[in-house]
Amino acid sequence: MQRRSLLQLGAALPLAFLVPARLGARVMSPFARVRPGDPYWPTPAQWDELRVAIGGTLLLPESLFAPCVADADSAACAAVRELLRNPFFMGDQPGGTQVSGWLDAWTPAPSAYGVMARNAAEVASAVDFARTHNLRVVVKGGGHSYLGTSNAPDSLLIWTRNLTAVRLHDEFVGEGCAGRIAPQPAVSLGAGCMWIDAYSAVTTRAGRYVQGGGCTSVGVAGLIQSGGFGSFSKGFGNAAAGLLEAEVVTADGKVRIVNACRDPELFWALKGGGGGTFGVVTRLTLRTHDLPRFFGGAWGAIQARSDAAFRTLLARFLAHYAERLANPHWGEQFAVKSDNSLKISMVQQGLAREEARAVWQPFFDWVKASADFRITAELGASGHEPQGWWKVQGNPSMIPDTRPGASPDHGFWQGDLDQVGAYLHGYDSLWLPAALLEKASQPRLVEALFAASRHKDVELHCNKGLAFATPAAVKASLDTAMNPGVTEAFALAIIADGERPSYPGESRPPMDLEAAHRDARAIDAAAAELSKVAPRAGSYLSESNFFNERWQEAYFGANYPRLLRAKKQYDPEGLFIVHHGVGSEHWSADGFTRLA
Ligand SMILES: Cc1cc2nc3c(=O)[nH]c(=O)nc-3n(C[C@H](O)[C@H](O)[C@H](O)COP(=O)(O)OP(=O)(O)OC[C@H]3O[C@@H](n4cnc5c(N)ncnc54)[C@H](O)[C@@H]3O)c2cc1C
Repeated sequence: MQRRSLLQLGAALPLAFLVPARLGARVMSPFARVRPGDPYWPTPAQWDELRVAIGGTLLLPESLFAPCVADADSAACAAVRELLRNPFFMGDQPGGTQVSGWLDAWTPAPSAYGVMARNAAEVASAVDFARTHNLRVVVKGGGHSYLGTSNAPDSLLIWTRNLTAVRLHDEFVGEGCAGRIAPQPAVSLGAGCMWIDAYSAVTTRAGRYVQGGGCTSVGVAGLIQSGGFGSFSKGFGNAAAGLLEAEVVTADGKVRIVNACRDPELFWALKGGGGGTFGVVTRLTLRTHDLPRFFGGAWGAIQARSDAAFRTLLARFLAHYAERLANPHWGEQFAVKSDNSLKISMVQQGLAREEARAVWQPFFDWVKASADFRITAELGASGHEPQGWWKVQGNPSMIPDTRPGASPDHGFWQGDLDQVGAYLHGYDSLWLPAALLEKASQPRLVEALFAASRHKDVELHCNKGLAFATPAAVKASLDTAMNPGVTEAFALAIIADGERPSYPGESRPPMDLEAAHRDARAIDAAAAELSKVAPRAGSYLSESNFFNERWQEAYFGANYPRLLRAKKQYDPEGLFIVHHGVGSEHWSADGFTRLA
């Protein structure tokens, strides 16, 4: 964190902001939140009251490149430039976002003030202050929102980065659940943890498994509240399905422990109903599982020598997928590319090396036997001991955080490097129904993928669709707020592109806006081709199109009315509003004005 962003204010003052009578007269209108410069913006003395309530430190977040704007030759500016590819550094900045923006959608902009809470009581103080003064609130965990929902100018930032406690349980029973729900192994994670913190504790050190996300620097609370998928979700369900209990501060400033026995509707809404919407989560407790016997994968790339050969390759691969890979073992991705190539980057759980190789051998043999294809990256498959999967030291697939004082546990996958700081031209995703893998439908799917790939590369994330998952994973995932359609989809198709970082204040050549818009239109065109075989498809909210007009149906399906009821019950005044979050249809796009 940049030291300059700390605001150390003066002596202790009484907690007057907690007395509504004194402040009620200052509130401008119930329909508009206040901004800096407005007559009703809190006075310095009132901000000081908040500072005292939270134990002394209010942040004045700055944009990531503020040091460079101030002095391009400064050491602070050089540090930002040097660490621009380090997701842990980005996550440590109050004004940092993992994505540097999205064309015509959003641009990073720091909050006016920030609270880096150390416990739920401090979060409650910030929530009370924001509610009393009619402030726009934004909640940030790991800062990985593609949609920019942890970024809001002129807001009060409530940041959970400091809440990093991790505790393993052999026999966890939720509060109020004794005698109703059997004890089970679990892990409690402060909301500031990233997934690598969870995996290091649960898998690397304790030899167990917890279902989280793929990208190791994503925040645990943001991902759980969006539903969340990891590489092995076909074996264990979406990440929200593993939630046993949460500590959450609601809009009334109350610290609640919620689970299946206490505030069950709020608990359910937190399981995939969207972050920044129902309150500020301060702690999560997740079920842990026995570690699978093996983790491994399959990889390679094949280029077809003609369009006709590419169609043949896709047809053969999809048949292979339907026959051998559509099961709880196999997750992650294959990509159908515009240059007529198929890239395989899949992972598996539960298969030994020989078993994994046996699964792929018929397909690899078929490819190698044909002169129509060129192997552009070696083909292979593996299975090995699982406990070292997320170990950073000595792992060639991981890039460690090498900053002085960084946790030795902190590393991220090589494959995620290009995403750090990326600027998005466009992004779309849709769930592809498993029915498309039936023999009679496979040719339609081949044609759709071929047509889409004429516009842009298409990635199929098989772990982000839960058809062919275990029955237990399907059952638990259906008890989350995510669109139930996810259980009928074999994969989430993602089409996205952008360019290298483009943060405000960063010195770089001007963006070619015409080319960027062309790219965005190509993404739309590719998605439209897939929509032909998956009409009205659902979409995973965290990895979706900012401009999706039917987001309620796409993200939540039949669950939306229930989510709206929970929103009205726990946040009737709309303190927590994010772009395309539950209830946001009643607010202006910037979250400042309630619509009549
Ligand atoms: C590089 C990259 C890789 C990704 N990989 C995956 C993946 O493998 N699987 C997957 O499922 N998703 C993935 N995502 C999407 C990611 O899971 C979501 O964007 C997630 O919401 C990020 O959580 P965060 O805390 O890091 O982000 P933030 O931007 O901090 O938060 C995201 C949303 O959650 C809210 N929020 C965060 N913390 C809290 C809290 N404590 N209480 C209440 N609300 C909160 C924020 O207000 C915001 O609306 C990836 C995203 C990126 C950028």
